Amino acid sequence: MDLVKLKTLATKKLRKGMPLLQKEDLLKDADFPQAWVTFSDERGNFVGQGYLGQQNKGIGWLVSLQEEQLNQAFFEGLFNKAKARRQAFFNNQETTAFRLFNGEGDGLGGLTIDWYDNYAVFSWYNEVILQKKAEIVAAFQAVYPEVLGASEKIRYKSQLPESQWLYGTQPNEPLIVKENAVNYAVYLNEGLMTGIFLDQKEVRNQLVEGLAVGQEVLNLFSYTGAFSVAAAMGGAASTTSVDLAKRSRQKTEEQFAVNQLSLENQKIIVMDVFEYYKYAKRKNLSYDLIILDPPSFARNKKKTFSVAKNYGELVTDALSILKENGRIIASTNAANLSLERFQGLVEAAFEAAGVNYQKEQVFRLPVDFQTLASFSEGNYLKVLFYKIKK
Ligand code: SAH
Repeated sequence: MDLVKLKTLATKKLRKGMPLLQKEDLLKDADFPQAWVTFSDERGNFVGQGYLGQQNKGIGWLVSLQEEQLNQAFFEGLFNKAKARRQAFFNNQETTAFRLFNGEGDGLGGLTIDWYDNYAVFSWYNEVILQKKAEIVAAFQAVYPEVLGASEKIRYKSQLPESQWLYGTQPNEPLIVKENAVNYAVYLNEGLMTGIFLDQKEVRNQLVEGLAVGQEVLNLFSYTGAFSVAAAMGGAASTTSVDLAKRSRQKTEEQFAVNQLSLENQKIIVMDVFEYYKYAKRKNLSYDLIILDPPSFARNKKKTFSVAKNYGELVTDALSILKENGRIIASTNAANLSLERFQGLVEAAFEAAGVNYQKEQVFRLPVDFQTLASFSEGNYLKVLFYKIKK
């Protein structure tokens, strides 16, 4: 294995439990290998093992601080530990989809694995972790003999297909999974996304369990309408789902259908969110509960949206179509923005509009998305619930 020397500061960082490497951590940052490597300090003393593989977060991961073999038995150890941590999920018959293995939070950055009712979805985040695919998949199969089949997603720039079947049988699709007794239709081998973002389960649970009762709900950037379905199941008076992707209409109708919900009080609108704001103002539409969950970065014909630059506008416009004593749920998955900065952006928009606001709840990643206390960027999800008085 290649030996890669780290700067003193980086050595300290890794020993403190921060597993992600950046280019500037390396003593020689030109021509470093894309490979599994041993890390040492400037003088060549052992620090740990891991790999250098370019991905959007950084250039590699520390995997172990021990001098041990990173082989199938090592990966089985990680999967067993991750499985034991999630016993409460396996025991809960009302939730049949959740994350089984969350990258660095479970000890191996660059790989996540999700459980969809006895099927698995692997996501690989760089090409170097794939060098150990055979050992990793064999270890997974040894720990999870009950998994009937798995698909895999390639989440970095590559010639490989984005999604393909990895092993075992394929389910009849849509596969219907449950979360808090609500059904969701998922497709395990269609592009990168399955139809549900499992990291939002706690937010959906709030909607199912009372927050949405009797409310007129507006779900912006709605994708397959999972928040709308949760709200409707939780007794919402109506839901409106807005997404510019054409697929979202049929996908959202399907999510309502698999819960036997009629579409009578559910509007599905294929439109740019900023256009919808104009439309809603023109038509004097207003809502009790507005959910904002944009992608962290998006580009369309007219503009680029970034959380840091444009979240404030989203909130300002939402306020203008919010009813008296309404609620705003502001969500982002932008890892490069701290909770404090995100909260600052949202509240600056409230203050500029001169409304009174009260922060009611904050959600970060749920426990199946295991994170490291020593690596706060890993806990990328931030969801703020606000009650607004105009
Ligand atoms: N809230 C969803 C996930 C949102 S994913 C959920 O919980 O399931 C982001 C979605 O935003 C994508 O479906 C994408 O099509 C949509 N999108 C991106 N830019 C948009 C825009 N300007 N207007 C409307 N939708 C947009």
